Parts: sequence; C-alpha cells; structure tokens
Amino acid sequence: MLAGAGHFSLLLGAHRRATRAGPALAMTVLLAVFAAGCAKKPVRNVLLVTIDTLRADRLGCYGFALARTPSIDRLAEEGVRFSDAISAAPITMPSHSTIMTGLLPPAHGVRDNGSFALGDKAVTLAERFRAAGYRTRAFVSALVLNRRYNLNQGFEGYDDDLWSEDEPPLFMIRSRSAPKTAERAIAWLQGWGRGKEAQPFFLWVHFFDPHQPNNPPAGERIKSPTPYDAEIAIADRGVGMLLDELRSLGVLDQTLVVLTADHGESLGEHGEKTHAVFIYDATVRVPLVLRNPTLLPEGKVYAGPVRSVDIAPTILAAIGLPGGKEMQGIDLLPAVRGKVPPPDLPQYSESLTSEVGFGMAPLFGIRHHGWKWIRAPRPEVYDLGKDPKELRNLYATEARRGAAMDVELEKILDDSRRHAVAANENPMDKETEETLRALGYLAPRGQREAMAGIDPKDGMVLYQKLEDARHLAQNEHWQEAEKLIREILAATPKNVTCWNILALARLRQNDGQGARDAYLHSLAVEPNQARVFAMLGSVSLLEGDLTGAERQYKKALELSPGFVEAMSNLGLLAALKGDREQALAWNRKALALDPSFPRAYRRLADIYYERGEWGKALYNYRQVIKIARSDFAALVQAGNSARRLERPLDAERFFRKAARLRPDSWIPDYNLACLKASRGDAPGALADLEKLAGKGFHRADLLARDSDLAAVRALPGFAALEAKVRAARPANNAPSEEAIVLSTH
Ligand SMILES: [Zn+2]
Repeated sequence: MLAGAGHFSLLLGAHRRATRAGPALAMTVLLAVFAAGCAKKPVRNVLLVTIDTLRADRLGCYGFALARTPSIDRLAEEGVRFSDAISAAPITMPSHSTIMTGLLPPAHGVRDNGSFALGDKAVTLAERFRAAGYRTRAFVSALVLNRRYNLNQGFEGYDDDLWSEDEPPLFMIRSRSAPKTAERAIAWLQGWGRGKEAQPFFLWVHFFDPHQPNNPPAGERIKSPTPYDAEIAIADRGVGMLLDELRSLGVLDQTLVVLTADHGESLGEHGEKTHAVFIYDATVRVPLVLRNPTLLPEGKVYAGPVRSVDIAPTILAAIGLPGGKEMQGIDLLPAVRGKVPPPDLPQYSESLTSEVGFGMAPLFGIRHHGWKWIRAPRPEVYDLGKDPKELRNLYATEARRGAAMDVELEKILDDSRRHAVAANENPMDKETEETLRALGYLAPRGQREAMAGIDPKDGMVLYQKLEDARHLAQNEHWQEAEKLIREILAATPKNVTCWNILALARLRQNDGQGARDAYLHSLAVEPNQARVFAMLGSVSLLEGDLTGAERQYKKALELSPGFVEAMSNLGLLAALKGDREQALAWNRKALALDPSFPRAYRRLADIYYERGEWGKALYNYRQVIKIARSDFAALVQAGNSARRLERPLDAERFFRKAARLRPDSWIPDYNLACLKASRGDAPGALADLEKLAGKGFHRADLLARDSDLAAVRALPGFAALEAKVRAARPANNAPSEEAIVLSTH
C-alpha cells in the first residue's frame, strides 16, 4: 500500500542538495558514487535510534490513540513506517547485535544479555562506516549495552558512562533517561557541526525509558494511561530533541534517520509481565521508521514483512557502502520504493533467556504467510490473521503446518550456521553477568540442570513470581520479596537466583548470619559465582573479619579476573590494614580495566590524601566528581585538598557545592568557617561557627585543636561558642564507609 507517495519528489531532493551541500559533501557524494558506481547519493549521515522495550502498538503512528509520541509520529509522517517489523529476540543484547550486524542471533552468537559479548570477527555497521571515513559515535542508556559486550566495535566514541547518573537503587539496572542521553548526543552533534570539514557521521542513540521499572515522574504519569506509556512519552521527547538538533544544524534532510526498538513488552499477555522469555508478537513486534526525503517516500506505510536483520543491509545500501550482501537480511529500499513487490520474508525470533535465565527450554519461532510456529516442548501454531493475540494454539489440528514451518525454521538455523561468527567469551563482563544473575536474568548451570526441559509456558508462573520478588527487592520491600522467594524455593530448591536474593534480603535486614547461610546454599548448587564470593567478603568485612573478607574477594577475582568492585574492595582492605602501596595498586588496576569506575578514584584519592600528596588527591577527587557530581564526600575532600595546595578559592567553591548538596550537614560549613579564619577573618568565622550548633555540630574537640581556629580561640565570644557546641546533639552525617561497602552490590 502506498500512502501519500505523491509527496515524494526527487527534484525537491536535488534542490536541497544543491543549496546545502558544501565542498565536503560534494566530495563525499563523489566518493560514494565512485564506490558504488551509482548515479546519485543524496544521503550523507545516518542517525540510528533504538528505543528499548517499545511495543509498536503503543505509538500514535501505529494506531494507539492515547499515545504521546509526537516526534516519532511526525517522523513516520515524513518517512516510511513498516507496519510488520519483527525483532530477532525479545531481549536487548541479542536484538541490538542483530540490528548492528545484519545477522541473526544463532549467527552472531549473542544469545542473551550479560553472558555473551559480540565476537571480534563480527562486522558491525559502525565498522563499515568507519572504514568509509565516517565519524562513528554511540550513546547508550543502560548497562546491558556496556562496551564490554563489544557492540562498540567501529565506534570512535561509545558513551556508556552511566556511573555519572544518580546512584541507582539497589538491584536496579544502571540506566539514564532519554533527555539526558539526548543531551550528550546533541553536545557531540554540535561539536561535529562546528568542524570545518565535517565528515559525515553514523550516530547511534539508545534510549531505555520504557524498560521496567516504570517509575515516571508524577507530572508525566498523569498524562498517560499507564506508567509504561509515560516512559514512552519521555523517550519520544529524546527523539524529538535529536531531530530538532539535526534540523537546526540544517542536516536533517541529508541524514537517513532509522528508528526502531530492540523488542516490545508483554504487559501481562500470556502471563508474562515484561519481556525476555516468550516470543509472541507482544515482545517481538517492533516499530520501524525510516526517514530521508530524497531517498524515501514521505508518509508511506510499508505493509510487507520485514525483520530487524534487514536494517543493516538497508542502511548500507542507502549510503552505497559494501557489506550488505554478506548479511542475512536484505536491502529493503527497492521494495519500499515500489520497484519490486514486497519480498516474502520469513520472520525468525528466538529466546534462549528462558534457558539461560531460568533453566527452561529455549524457544524458536517463525512468522510466515500470516502464521506463527513456535518450537517448544509443547509446540505452538497460531493463525495471526484470525488470532493476532496468539491466544488459540492450533497445534492439535495444524500439526502438519507446524512441521512444514519447522523445516523453514531449520533452514534459517542452517543459514545462520553458515554465517556464524564466534561470540566472545569476555572475562570483563563477568561482574555484570553476576549482577544480572542476581536480578534473576541468568541461571547458573546447576540451576539449569535442575529445571531442564520445562516448557516456558509451564515455568512462567514461577518465573513471574521471581520477577515480582525482584521488583519488591528493587523497592527494598525485603520481607515481601523474601516471602515469594521462599515459595519459589519450596518448588525449586536448587534455584540459585532465589538463594542469592534471599541472602541479600537477609543482609539488608541486618542478618549477616542468615545472609551467609543463604549464600552457602547458593554455592552448594553452583560453586563458581564470583559475585557471591564478593558478597561473602562484604559480610565478613561488615563483621570486622578482614582476613576472611580478603579470602572471599580474592576467590571472587580468581573466578572473574575483571571484577573491578572486588579489586576496589581489596584495595579498601589493604588500606584498612595500613598497606597503602597495595591499596593504590588494587585501585589502579581497577581503573585500568574500567576508567569510569568512581569508587576506585575515590579510594585512590583518599590514600593520596592520607599520604599528604595533595595534588594527586585533588586530581582523583575531581575525577570522582566528574563522574558522580553529587558525591558529597568527594566534594568536601576536594575542598580540603585544594586548601592544602593553598588554593583557597578552589577550596571555597568545592565546600559551597557540598553545602548546597547537603544543607543538613555541618561539615562544609565548618570547613568554610576554617577557611575564613585562615584568611584573617576570625570574627566572621566565629559567627559562622555559632550557626553550626543548630546543625548538630558537636565537635568541641575540633574547636579546641584545629590550627585554623587559633585566632578564633582568642576572641571573647569563643567560650560561649564552646559551651553551645558541647551541649549540641550529634547528628549522624559523616559519610560512612559501611554505605560504600554495601553499595558494591
Ligand atoms: Zn531491551
């Protein structure tokens, strides 16, 4: 079906080219023409936007009347909307790997989040663009796409620095909101725009907002029918910001914009609340919109079947770059432009998360000619035309159709074996793998064996219970979480994930022994869990058993050599034992592996500070603040370091920032008063100190011995101040090391 194709005008495109194209563009066009041997190459840049967990049918342009998605809707009006686009997997890393490589998961080898990294031999879109002289840049919004999973191949810059975001509540996946990610991408675009001979770019921006937990701000929440839709509205705002920036740079029409999602969200369909296990349309049907006025019709709806595996070859063909033919997808442009009829494409999806994540059987599916086949212990056949929600499994009467479709499925798997590249066994990702495992995303081998063969349709009740427990834990409702966990353990006593969550629940309820017992149960089923050893280390540390803690952290590192949190904790142990060299070494090692890990900078800074190396201390405190702007202790210590370096103005700036951050604390104000005294204003300092007693300042000992306050002590009002401070009630506002230790998890 061709809607609004009359707006499509090559002349208009040619005119735009003539007016906007600088010499650099002419050069690029020339080069591209040369490379592809084709007459016209109007597209200069590529912006790929992937929105996590976005169901197609929750967007205005896909017919959802209550949507607040004006930016995506406008994009669809100005470009081509694919009404039947299917993702290769209902989970982030496998799906994104398909989008980036044009290979299906069994070919690129990334079958789940966390435990797989894309192989070095895989050729990504970014690598193709970089080889062709493009600027390549990525901005991602969640830890599951961290560079350690190797999707950064070919990107000159890969912004996955989520440490700078507000400390996520325990257990939550580290992420940042779309407008924040968009701001970072826009800052880059502006720099790119200022470049004199701006090279064309391939920019990938990933937004995470619709992914659970859906906790939009109240102001957003009331404008949408559900929290999920409110999060989609926030993601849409990020899309709008990016497109506005391209518009104001005057390059939107020279850019091919591609917007899609990695997968949808079940929203309770088939008993699945979120995504990752089932491969029904709820989680595999995704939006796909392409916009470029020169290359593509405007306002067209393309109804033929397409797949996320077609995105990469289509983009490469649009730009005239090679490589698309080696992929498993196809170039959709000829069909979109109506030059050939929509090709008859079988749409493949898989989920191994049910296996990897809980020990259930994997699912493989294919959609073709209006039917869906799911290979499972209890196989499924659906007539999508009559039953789009996939509620009536017709396998009993359609077994023959199922068998025929299974042959098709096997062909796709065969083709994937021919295209196969090995996924990386990436030791660096282990600690995150452990975090994901704690979230119940990854089931250790022992647990998998215990659950083996269960059809996800049968296992979903337990799986869902686990997910509920996880959400309760995320919100620190430990008792309720514990109750559900004990129910799951009664049914599946070897469920390591549950033992680990139970342990954490015990720990958070100040039951160290209970936590240790649960972790030991977990290790009895699956002995090689680095994260569990690290947790046992922290339990020992909290109990003051430094030797035991060290043994456990070392065991964790032995199992997972890239575990930066364990390194940093070993550094802390060394510092507690007075071995500063060792402490420095551990933290330097952690930073070498993850330069965006703020805790290691913090520990280094503390050690340098204690050694009186103020310059190095200040440098490292500044690194912490750069990453974690609201780190109170780092701000105070940066101020103290600056003072020691005789830089009172810098010191004042840090103390004032700290005071704004924590108006309840006496610490920054006390330091400011000392600064004032040291600069000769003893009466002013005295007046400031008098105000502090009301903030719980009780440290008469500091007043008595602080060398900054010598002149203050000579003042007549000092005795009254001292009496006031002695009478003050202490407030508990010193940053505590316990909190830092606990935040490892
Ligand atoms: Zn995702």
